[in-house]
This record gives sequence, structure tokens and C-alpha cells, in this order.
Amino acid sequence: MKRKMTAMTMAVLMAVSLSGCGGAAAEPTTAQDTTAASTSKAEDTTAADAGTEDKGDSGKVYKIATDTTFAPFEFEDDNGEMVGIDLDLLKAIAEDQGFEYELVVAGFSAATTGLEAGEYDGVIAGMSITDARKEKYDFSEPYYDSGVGMAVNADSDIASYDDLNGKTVAAKIGTEGCTFAESIADQYGFTIMQFEDSSSMYQDVLAGNSVACFEDYPVLGYEISRGTAFKMPLDMEHGNSYGFAVLKGQNTELLEMFDAGLKNMKDSGKYDEILNTYISK
Ligand code: GLN
Repeated sequence: MKRKMTAMTMAVLMAVSLSGCGGAAAEPTTAQDTTAASTSKAEDTTAADAGTEDKGDSGKVYKIATDTTFAPFEFEDDNGEMVGIDLDLLKAIAEDQGFEYELVVAGFSAATTGLEAGEYDGVIAGMSITDARKEKYDFSEPYYDSGVGMAVNADSDIASYDDLNGKTVAAKIGTEGCTFAESIADQYGFTIMQFEDSSSMYQDVLAGNSVACFEDYPVLGYEISRGTAFKMPLDMEHGNSYGFAVLKGQNTELLEMFDAGLKNMKDSGKYDEILNTYISK
């Protein structure tokens, strides 16, 4: 009897996590292509620096995973180079602290899944420091304050959450934006379509399949400033600050170096310099 209950409970739990924002959600058709693209990108990076195992204390090359499209934190510029606040910050901190790393452009949910599987030593991906995540990861000091926003097409007449009734909205798997959308979905009567990466999520809204997307407010703001035909009809919802993450209890020295380097970057003005490169005040 007890066994049966456990099995039943597990079945229920699995169903919940499959329909939630956790990462194993049913994927829309477009997500697959993108996943393939980002996987091969990650493989390229890995192949280039194959064998990044510990070469002794000072010679360790840390594998640090990031997102594919999350401007201005990480994104491909016009020359096809990965750039962004997270990447500049990581580079400056590594130089300051004298550690080496290999960057893996994995995608957000792949980055966190890979961190948990021990494939990566750390994640820098505009990753919000949430209480739920603190159970699994150790975070650096916060380096950027953020929150969640809703974007709709520039010519859309959706002006409130009430207008989402009976409609489909887009969100990115495993993100705070997705969790927020999920928290109000029943109340406002909308359905969530989950995407593996932000660019396919934006495309779905632009194509008119989803009427809105939920994503970090500064990221949506940057997207609009880059000319994407979106607008944000509502104010920013509360969200958490970004931090660099390692698996709980692991790579403690990496986390300490990140924090020490971050402090140095703030003190020296380098932190502001990096931010100003991407975000005009
Ligand atoms: N800040 C959001 C989160 O941590 C989204 C991160 C991302 O999509 N790269 O969930």
C-alpha cells in the first residue's frame, strides 16, 4: 500500500513538472531547430578546447555555460561573435583573478541542466537568484537587478493581463518569466507555450501565434531598443537580481574568485564601463 502511494505520488509529481516551467516541458515545434543549432554551437566550443579537466590547482580551465540569446547579457553581434554584459564581466573578472575558463553557449535550460549534471562548473546567463534555486545552487553576490515584463507586438491592442483571456502567450523554459506567467495563467485564463530560447519565443509573438511573451524586463527593453517591433504595455513585475551560479557546495574557489573580482570591477569602475557599453543611461 505504501509503495503504491509512492508510485502514485511520483506520477503526479512528474505530470506537474512536465507541465511546469521547470525545463522538461512540451516543446513547440520551432524549439527543436533552435535546440539543434545551439547544441552544435556548444559542441564546437567543446571540441575546440577538448579535455578541460583539472590540470592542477592553478591550471584548471573552468567550463562556464551561458545562454544563446539574452541581449544585452549574452547575444551574437552582427559579426557572429558572442558578446554581452555577462561575457565582458566574466572576462574582466577572470583576468583580475587569474583563472581560465571555456565558455559554452548552451542555452538557458541546457546550462542549468548541464551544471546539475556536472558538465559545467558555473553558469552566467542573466540567472535570477531565486529562493528555489538557492536550494540547488550557490550564487555570487548579485550583479544586476532585474524583473519580469510582458511584451506584445507594437500594433497589438493587448493592454492588460485581462486581455490575455483565452489566448496563448510565450515563455522560455526554466525561466523566472515563465514561472511568473504560470503564476497568473489560471487567474487570467491564458495558455503558455514554452520555448527553448528567446529568439524563437520572440518570433512566435511577431508571427502572431502567441499574443505576448514574458521575459526579463531589461532584456525586452533592449530588444525594443534594437528595433524589434514590440511594446510593453505594463510596468515591471518584481523579479530577482542576477548572479553567477555554481552547484551547491562545489567550485567554492571559483565562486569566491567571482565575488572578489566583481568587487574589484565595481571599485575600479570597470563594472560601470561594461554596463555603459550596452545600456545607455
Ligand atoms: N533571469 C531569468 C531567469 O533566471 C532568465 C534567464 C535567461 O533566460 N537567460 O530565469
